[in-house]
Amino acid sequence: MAENQNGIDRRRFLRDGLWGGCLAALGVAAGFVGNRSKRRDTVWQIDPYTCVACGNCATYCVLEESAVKCVHAYAVCGYCRICFGFFGPEPSDINEGAENQLCPTGAIKRTFVEDPYYEYTIDEKLCNGCGKCVKGCNTFGNGSLFLQVRHDRCVNCNECSIAVACPSQAYKRVPADKPYLLKRVDHA
Ligand code: SF4
Ligand code: SF4
Ligand code: SF4
Repeated sequence: MAENQNGIDRRRFLRDGLWGGCLAALGVAAGFVGNRSKRRDTVWQIDPYTCVACGNCATYCVLEESAVKCVHAYAVCGYCRICFGFFGPEPSDINEGAENQLCPTGAIKRTFVEDPYYEYTIDEKLCNGCGKCVKGCNTFGNGSLFLQVRHDRCVNCNECSIAVACPSQAYKRVPADKPYLLKRVDHA
């Protein structure tokens, strides 16, 4: 795909800037967890490289609304026009119509950046952690969408019911002062 230098620079700027914003947002949550770590040293988290997006995270959490949400590694994203995490398998058109979307709750927002790039952002209030977008992005895209336990919601059960139901041993206890396992560009 041909790209001019300005386009590449702009994308890098956009990715780095947005990824920084994402880390900053998670950092706020890390601080929150840090306070709680006086009571407990570890919290549950999903290894995004082991998760197979089976769907159990949406239904096995003890909370009525799962503590698991989709998050986005912007630095890994290809800003694809046709995103396999956003569009269903047979969209009737390549636009934001609800009938074309894979997400059952409309939690993913698609925004035009510049030809041919689009940005995808998650509205966590709408996300139920079903992982459908994660599976689509992992199967056909860069794998930039992934699931994480959000520690502003999780009550840190001694035995996490999702961990018990997880078919891929993706759940781990991690240090409470480093409560997120993020996807990275340089991951092998
Ligand atoms: S497809 Fe599922 S995991 Fe992805 S944003 Fe929508 S509700 Fe969340
Ligand atoms: S530890 Fe409890 S609240 Fe947190 S994700 Fe697991 S089941 Fe849900
Ligand atoms: S239960 Fe395990 S494999 Fe299934 S979506 Fe959750 S973390 Fe991923």
